Parts: sequence; structure tokens; C-alpha cells
Amino acid sequence: MTVSGKTAVVTGSNSGIGLGVAQELARAGANVILNSFTDRPEDHALAESLAKEHGVAVRYIAADMSKGEDCRALIEKAGKCDILVNNAGVQYVAPIDEFPIEKWNAIIAINLTSAFHTTAAALPMMREAGWGRVVNIASAHGLTASPFKSAYVSAKHGIVGMTKTVALETAGQGITCNAICPGYVLTPLVEAQIPEQMKVHDMDRETVIREVMLERQPSRQFATVEQIGGTVVFLCSAAADQITGTTISVDGGWTAM
Ligand code: NAD
Repeated sequence: MTVSGKTAVVTGSNSGIGLGVAQELARAGANVILNSFTDRPEDHALAESLAKEHGVAVRYIAADMSKGEDCRALIEKAGKCDILVNNAGVQYVAPIDEFPIEKWNAIIAINLTSAFHTTAAALPMMREAGWGRVVNIASAHGLTASPFKSAYVSAKHGIVGMTKTVALETAGQGITCNAICPGYVLTPLVEAQIPEQMKVHDMDRETVIREVMLERQPSRQFATVEQIGGTVVFLCSAAADQITGTTISVDGGWTAM
């Protein structure tokens, strides 16, 4: 079984890792639904250019992953969902005693609860088709912690737990559910953390990148969005039919330490 002709829904896919995953799935022949909370001409233009580049059908559907009804509507509007990649995510860095409650709520909603809603909406379609793949983009922070990231670490550990539960509930049904745990990938989300980290650690940009961000990534290299996308395509291949309920780290050795 290949992804050719399958329909893949990738949440939070108008930039960064989500877009990289969408690119690799389209390159492998899947039809793709792109998503974010915006509804701008450039979002739809992105879908058109991806379709043209890879000769597959690509649609952009606006839906806010902080809202349960939007999450479920995304899957319903897609009409078909063979591959679900729960990727939408946001970050905020602050000590727990100064962590704004609205930031905590937003991170838990977008990084964790959205996957509950999209997975619940997509599983009946997958069961009907007798085949399905749920891939959750967790993080090295789904397996380990860092200071100042209480909400993010909680959400990512939560999604690793949900991955195992969904795998057990779908075992033997032609459906798998796994989590990919990237280390640092240079995307807008990481770029946005640099000024906050510079403030928290009182360091300049280069020192924060080398000493703080990549300090725990033994390769001292960022992972790429193509590598994350390639791992998703592998998890959708027949070779991965019996891989379910697990995590795959793409982190340059971070969690080996
Ligand atoms: P990014 O900021 O480039 O992309 C995040 C995507 O989510 C964007 O498309 C954004 O529009 C979308 N999004 C944000 N809020 C949304 C909402 N309310 N509704 C719908 N879409 C929304 O960030 P990224 O680095 O590509 O992160 C993607 C995922 O990868 C996240 O879950 C993140 O936690 C995870 N991750 C990233 C890294 C990294 O180093 N970049 C490492 C580990 C895990």
C-alpha cells in the first residue's frame, strides 16, 4: 500500500513542519488538505501551487484548531481522511509561576485537544475504508522536559499518551497511530522562541542557538522539515503496517542522552 491516491489532512500546514509534511505527502502522490486558522488568498494560492507542482489535488480549508467544532468541521469538510497528521502547534516560554493562563489554555487546546477532536472525527472514515494512519507531531518535549515550557511539555507528553491509547483502540483494524518526536527544526515557531530565550537566558542570538537550543541536540544540527515529512511517508508505507502506538525521534540524538 502506498499513499498514492490517499487523502491526507495536515493541521497547521501553511508553514513550517506541516507544510514540509504536506509537500512530502504530495510528492508521494497523496491528495492533501492544507489547514490553518487564516483564510487569506495566499493560503489558497499555496494549495494551488502544491497541486501544480506534484499533480495531485490540494485544498486549503480554514479551521481554528483551538476550537473543537472547527477541528471536527475540518475533517467533515475534507470528506475523506485516510491520513491524519496532527501538527498544529504553538509555543510560549515563561516560568510556571508567571505563565499566563490564556497561554496555557491556548497551548493545551491547539497542541493537544485539537488532536482529540480531529482523531475522533476521522476514525469512523478510516474504519469504513479499512485503512488509516494517524501521525501526531509531538516533540522531544513529549519524552523529556525543559524549564519554562510547562504548557508545551504537558501538551506534548499528553499527545504521546493519546497516541498509545488510539493505537490500542484501532489495533487490528488496518489503522495505526504513532507520534514523531522532532528535536529542533528551524521553522517560524523556533525562530519566534529565540528572542524570548535570549531574554530568559540573557544571551545573544548565536549563543542561544548554540548553547541553549542545540545544546541538547548532540548532532548540533537542526532537523529539516523534509526529514519529518519523509518519516510521515514511511509511517504511511506497508513497511510500517505493524508500527503502532510508538514514538519515532528525529532529534539528532537528544533523547539518547
Ligand atoms: P510553525 O509556527 O511554523 O507552524 C505552526 C502551524 O500551526 C502554522 O501553520 C500555524 O498557522 C498553525 N497554527 C497555529 N495555531 C493554529 C490554530 N489555532 N489553528 C490552526 N492552525 C494553527 O511551527 P512548526 O515548528 O512548524 O511546528 C509544527 C509542529 O511541530 C508543532 O506541533 C510543534 O510543536 C512541533 N514541533 C516543532 C519543532 C521545531 O523545532 N520546529 C520541534 C518539535 C515539535
